[in-house]
Amino acid sequence: MAKKQKGRAIGIDLGTTYSCVAAWEKQNGRAEIIVNDQGNRTTPSFVAFTDSHRFIGDAAKNQAAANPSNTIFDAKRLIGRKYKDPTIENDLKLWPFKVVSGVDDKPMIMVNYKGKEKCLAAEEISSMILTKMKEIAEAYMDSSVNNAVITVPAYFNDSQRKATKDAGIIAGLNVIRIINEPTAAALAYGLQKRGNCSGKRNVFIFDLGGGTFDVSLVTIEGDNIEVKATTGDTHLGGEDFDNRMVSHLVQEFKRKNGVDITGTPRALRRLRNECEKAKRILSHTNETTIEIDALFQGVDFRFSLTRACFEELNRDLFEKCMEIAQKCLDDAKMKKSKIHDVVLVGGSSRIPKVQSLLHNFFEGKELCKSINPDEAVAFGAAVQAALLSEDYSFVPPLVLVDVTPLSLGIKVKGDLMSVVIPRNTIIPAKRSAVYFTPKDYISTVTINVYEGERTKASDNNLLGTFPLSGLPLVFKGHPFNVYFELDFDGILKVRAEDKTTGSKNGITITNEKGRLSNAEINRMVKEAALFKEEDKKFKMMVKAKNALDDYIYKMEKAMEDSDVSSKVSPSKKQRIMAAFSEGKALIQNEHETEACVFENYLRRLQNICRPILINKVNTCFKMFGI
Ligand code: AMP
Repeated sequence: MAKKQKGRAIGIDLGTTYSCVAAWEKQNGRAEIIVNDQGNRTTPSFVAFTDSHRFIGDAAKNQAAANPSNTIFDAKRLIGRKYKDPTIENDLKLWPFKVVSGVDDKPMIMVNYKGKEKCLAAEEISSMILTKMKEIAEAYMDSSVNNAVITVPAYFNDSQRKATKDAGIIAGLNVIRIINEPTAAALAYGLQKRGNCSGKRNVFIFDLGGGTFDVSLVTIEGDNIEVKATTGDTHLGGEDFDNRMVSHLVQEFKRKNGVDITGTPRALRRLRNECEKAKRILSHTNETTIEIDALFQGVDFRFSLTRACFEELNRDLFEKCMEIAQKCLDDAKMKKSKIHDVVLVGGSSRIPKVQSLLHNFFEGKELCKSINPDEAVAFGAAVQAALLSEDYSFVPPLVLVDVTPLSLGIKVKGDLMSVVIPRNTIIPAKRSAVYFTPKDYISTVTINVYEGERTKASDNNLLGTFPLSGLPLVFKGHPFNVYFELDFDGILKVRAEDKTTGSKNGITITNEKGRLSNAEINRMVKEAALFKEEDKKFKMMVKAKNALDDYIYKMEKAMEDSDVSSKVSPSKKQRIMAAFSEGKALIQNEHETEACVFENYLRRLQNICRPILINKVNTCFKMFGI
């Protein structure tokens, strides 16, 4: 049983393209999706940097076409991966921002912020989005929130999960649990179904989002939700469908106009925005037109796109989704006919072709669309957050049993993968195995920990290496024990021990290449605080500037009133008018960033105006409806 947390907790769906935050509401006895400062229920997972400011969410996405090389999106596709990872090779060509290889081949995002080049890890970008989601929740709850459940694609590996947790730490969150996205959706669905059906239901969760695809087979029986199998592709989703459209239209533009826009971030960003819009429209209509004025070198672009063309461009990707769906059923050893409900989750599950393929795959079964595909994951995360918090009442006593998506084991003689925890094992899990020294008279063995399904260990993903030393100098075949411990978040600890000598060296995985070190996390936490301070300063500056602007506006209106004006001497009037002009010039000065400058000027202006106008102004404000 996991320890319950003090204080309120939120659920965050940290998506590739959009993020969503939800909280359990005691009064209503249900999870609520929290709207952001723009009134939207989801927030773009975008962060942008300019000469004077950092933007997150809608503000960042809205200025993307004007500032493409400093507007970062898709950070989730980079998190916990290597720069050389073949899955991001194509993305690198299409992203308008620069990504370079850093220490240990970690991908680093280059931006220009306040006139200086800055190098950021994907964790830092994600932490900025998480900070924004935290702030959205805090504004809604009117109190600070530190505890959060964050969701990740079920098929995220160990380093991607750890990197997501690191992003949460940098954002100042206490990440009480990392849960799988389809599992969170199952919680949302389970809550809805609870009480409405009797017996056991086998539910197939099909979660196709912006950047990732997950499928899970879950059984729901009373308050118990048990994941039977989970699989997916951490690099398959709406962004890939957009990429296919972008590549196609780049070729079209080249064919028609003889110019290649591939190296032009602004044109690519504008094209991508229009492609995404067109894709959504094609979910409702059969044809749409993409029109972009002066896309490149003053040349307009106009292209008529049919749903059939969109489907053809993405045919192999849609088919791949069905193959993965089949794999999940195979893993669970369950026939299609045994599935009671097929639940659609993720924005891309709205694509008609995806739905028709799935409908056929399940031999004509009606697909369940009763839960909101954009919100189900955050909703489920909020339910899980409430279940893990002390001060929540009226939370249904749901019990969630999840599984690990990948097998975990160590490399043994001949580069073989020896599995200690097989995939789809219920988590948390503790397993141990006995191994033997491979050679005579060796005092140290190296434990290489891998995750993956390939027989050859080196074809899998190396998680870490550590030595077990102090072994007795005897013939080969001396036994030692290896213990694997997988926690609720799906994060692994490995220990090794020689029982004969009592040596317990190395114990946990230490050299997790690509993961942030504690020193790096601390640096990023400090930098995040700095960013926060800068954002606060910016907000204060804008507030002070607006107050000054408002005051000048109101006073000008008051001065237009003949009753007021007649009581002011010409010389005083001149002084006031000059002060207004000076104030307006100050407001227009783009280099002025200090709130106190505007505040001081406002005070000065109030002193100049006060003796004459003080009594009259209020009546004038009313008169002018201000
Ligand atoms: P999610 O990660 O679940 O927020 O899904 C976001 C993805 O869903 C983005 O790639 C969107 O372009 C895509 N999406 C949202 N609505 C639609 C729609 N009506 N048709 C096709 N794709 C959509």
